[in-house]
Order: sequence, then structure tokens, then C-alpha cells
Amino acid sequence: MIIFLDLSDVEVERVEVAEEITLTLRTTSPTASCPSCGTPSSRIQSRYTRKLRDLPSIGRPLRLILHVRRFFCKKSTCAQKIFIERLPELCDVHAQRTKRLQEALRHLGLMIGGQAGADVGSELGISGSRDTILRLVHQSERPTHPEPHIIGLDDWAWKRRLRYGTLICDLERGVPIDLLPDRTVETVSTWLEEHPTIDTISRDGSSEYASAIKKGAPQAREVSDRWHLVKNLARCVSVLLASCFAELRRAETAIEVKEKQEEPRSHSSHGHPRTRAERQVQQARQAERQARYEQITALQKQGMKSAEMAAVVGMAERTVRQWLGRGDVPYSGPRKSRFSPLDPYKSYLLSRWHEGCHNGAQLERELRAKGYKGSQKAIYRCLANLELFVSSPSRRSGARDRSETKYQLNPLLALSASQATWLFFRREEDLKADEQENLQQLRQASPDLETAYQLVKEFLHMVRELTGERLEEWLGKVEASHLQAFQSFVTGVQQDKDAVLAGLPCLGAMDL
Ligand SMILES: [Zn+2]
Repeated sequence: MIIFLDLSDVEVERVEVAEEITLTLRTTSPTASCPSCGTPSSRIQSRYTRKLRDLPSIGRPLRLILHVRRFFCKKSTCAQKIFIERLPELCDVHAQRTKRLQEALRHLGLMIGGQAGADVGSELGISGSRDTILRLVHQSERPTHPEPHIIGLDDWAWKRRLRYGTLICDLERGVPIDLLPDRTVETVSTWLEEHPTIDTISRDGSSEYASAIKKGAPQAREVSDRWHLVKNLARCVSVLLASCFAELRRAETAIEVKEKQEEPRSHSSHGHPRTRAERQVQQARQAERQARYEQITALQKQGMKSAEMAAVVGMAERTVRQWLGRGDVPYSGPRKSRFSPLDPYKSYLLSRWHEGCHNGAQLERELRAKGYKGSQKAIYRCLANLELFVSSPSRRSGARDRSETKYQLNPLLALSASQATWLFFRREEDLKADEQENLQQLRQASPDLETAYQLVKEFLHMVRELTGERLEEWLGKVEASHLQAFQSFVTGVQQDKDAVLAGLPCLGAMDL
């Protein structure tokens, strides 16, 4: 006996078991309802036969032969004079497959695609061509979402750095609800107009989104996305660290000059840096340029003009336009070594430094006595670099043997700017012992880094504890710090202050 369908009003007339199983079925209900007006009718107009494929049974393909009826509609005013009786649980009106077979094929298509679904299906006795499977997948109903109230707007890269779309998420349900082809004011505002239920929109600091919201959803409250705020701040810190690392590596190159002293000087003009320190300087310079480029593109998105960006990032306006024009950072290659009159004396300067003589005037006298004819400024600049980076605390204490430390690279050089940035942004209690040590060294490596660290820490506290009333004070501290790398962040926040404060509600103004 074949356990078939849980269908009332359907009777099995005949079962044939051969290569495939054929069931002949007959409908038994005395009446059927007109699909147009719903009136039940018992007046049969004609009978006909439908053939349907079903899921396999006991390992064999199953085919249904279904005798169905046509009825007259009894309602004289109904446009539908004749209708076919329906079996909504079994199949659609004109389908050649049962619903459960269609469902199985659709699943196959969604899981492994059209062609593979057809291949696997035929092995399993679930027959359907590639085209059938794809059609079923396309027909499948998309889950409908209730009208959103709180949404987030974000960039979505079709092609990184070249083409961006807009991803729209329903933040109450935590699901993406739409993907727009671009991020223009026109596209985004049109979408917003079609969704008048929206009352709160979280977005990044971009001026395009801000304009789109003003145009398409003036009723909505704008909230600056905290994640983007932190990300933008991290980018500024990364620029600062990259430039500090570049300095650090320049100072370390000075150390290697001693190693290279006896060799001819012409090597770096060949275009291939030979020493590890030279390679690192080059990599650091490229990383620094990359970080600057990312900062520029972020500012551009905020609607800043190239002259302003140039001022904020500390570059020539022409260079800013050039980089934006070509869409990436030109590879800088090794910098042409410009001969400095100080070069032949650097190793002497360094050894005196390690002996403990840090007095500029004294060192200048000694160098002059050895025949140095260059500027005083060059000496002081070199000493400043040594001060910043070479004399890390452990070296200052003189605990290690000098001849050993002299050729050892500063341990901070093992870090990339982004690793170092990460140290600034993680909770201190989550850092491992060696990471804490690195962080300490970074903070001691330069007063700028210590200031930056304190600013980051206070900002993160604001974000985590939602204490927006301290934002003004914090912005004041950043301006007082004169940290060039942070200025773009401050400018962005100033331009977008309402939305930022909405994202960091103050105790007094908490109305979320
Ligand atoms: Zn009718």
C-alpha cells in the first residue's frame, strides 16, 4: 500500500508499478468554488486529464494522472463562465509538476545552482532541466519585510575604490533590505521618498547621504554611525603612526650607515634598496602615502575641496588632485639619495650618542673639529630623530651592552602602522603582555603618540559610555594638541555635529 497524499476529495483509482509508478487520481468533491467570485458550483461542464510529475516513491519516479473537471459558474453576473477545479495543496493550475517536486527542485537550485541541480536531481529521480530549476528559483517569493522605521545607510563596494553602491539595512531587525546601484543624492533620496515610515537614519559622515536624507526623508532624525566615527579616527591615528614609523626607520638607517661606511655610496641610486633598513624606509613611505590617500578619499566623500584637503593632510594641492585623478597612490620607489654633508659624520654622531653625549653644541664642536662644513640645523635634526626613537627607555638605562644594541633594530619596527593603530584602539585589559609592552614603547616613543593615545582613549570612552556632553571638551583638546593628523577628523565632526551628538546622546538630551 502506498501512503500517498493527505488530500481530502482525491481518490486513488489505480496504481501501476513498473520502471516508474503511475497513480491515477480522481477528484470527488460534489462542488467546486469559482476562483473569481467564490460561489460554489456543482454543474460540471466537462472532464479532462492532467499529467503531473511528483517526488519519487520507493526509489522510482512517480507520475500522476489526474482526472479533473470544469464547472459552470452559477453566478450570472460573474465574468468567469467556466472554471477549472483547483487543488491548491497539490499543484498549480497549469503546472506539470506537483508543488512538493517544484519545492525540491527550487531547493536544489538555491543550494547548488541550475546545472548542478539538474544533474544531481536526475540522479535522485527528481527531474527538472537547468532552465526549469532557474525559473523556479526566480519565481520563489522573496521574504517581505515590514516597512522599516530605523535604517542604516552604508557604502557597498561594487569595485573597491572605483564604484560604490549603497547598502540599506533595517536596524531594528538587523537585516539588509536593499542595495542601490550608487550612492548619489538622487538615487538615495528617491528610495527614501518611497519609504515614508522611516524616522531614524544612521549613516557615515558623508555629505552625499546627509543631502539625500534632507531631500528624501526630511522627517527622519540623522544619527552618525559610531562605528564610522571610530573608523575615521583610526585612519587618522594610522597616518600619524605611519609617519612616526617612517621617521623611526630613517633614524635606524643612520645606524646602518656605519655598516656601510667602507662600501661605495652609489648603491641607492640604482633603484633597488639594498639594506633592510632602506627597504623598510621605502615600505614605510609607501604605507604612509597609502594612509594619506585613504584619508583624502574619505575627506572627498565628505565633500571637501582639494585645497582644504591639502591643508588638512599637509600636502600640496596639486599632488592631492593628481592622486585623486589617478585613483590610487603612485608608487614612490626609492627616494633618490640626496647627499647630506652630515652623512660621513653620522656614524661618529651615533657612537657619541650611545656613549651618552646628547649635547648638541658639544657635538657640533666635535664635528666641526673633524671637518664638518654643513649646517647646524642638520645636526639638530639628526639628534632629534635619535632622541625620538633610538633612545628607547631600555637603552637609556644602559642595561644592555652597547655594541649589541647598536645594530639591533628598534623592536617597534616589527609593527606595521595598522597593527600599532589596533593597539591604540583595543581595551588595555584585552592586550597580551607583549602587546602591552609594545603599546608602552609607542607611547614613550614620542610626545605626539602619547597625546594621540590619550585622545583616542577619551574618545572611545565617550563612544562606549555614550557621554556626548564631553564632545566639545574633547574637540578642544584635539585642537590644542596641534596634531595635524587629527584635524581632518575634527573638521568632519564639526561639520556634522548634530548627527554625531545624536549618536552619542548626552545624559540631558537622551531621547532615543
Ligand atoms: Zn464566478
